[in-house]
Amino acid sequence: MTANTTRDWVNPVTCPFCGDELASPGAGFVDHIHDNDDCQDGFDHWRENIAGDLAGEWAG
Ligand SMILES: [Zn+2]
Repeated sequence: MTANTTRDWVNPVTCPFCGDELASPGAGFVDHIHDNDDCQDGFDHWRENIAGDLAGEWAG
């Protein structure tokens, strides 16, 4: 995982949706949302909002 999509993340070591501690920033979060449907859902909505606000800046 080379792309840095977390530069605006407030607190990269905890899940912003459930507050769980992540194994690592970025990659750990991806693993986390894969294991947590609620967080995956929250992330999908968050990403849609970001994509709508910053169309073109999201390179994920
Ligand atoms: Zn979570």
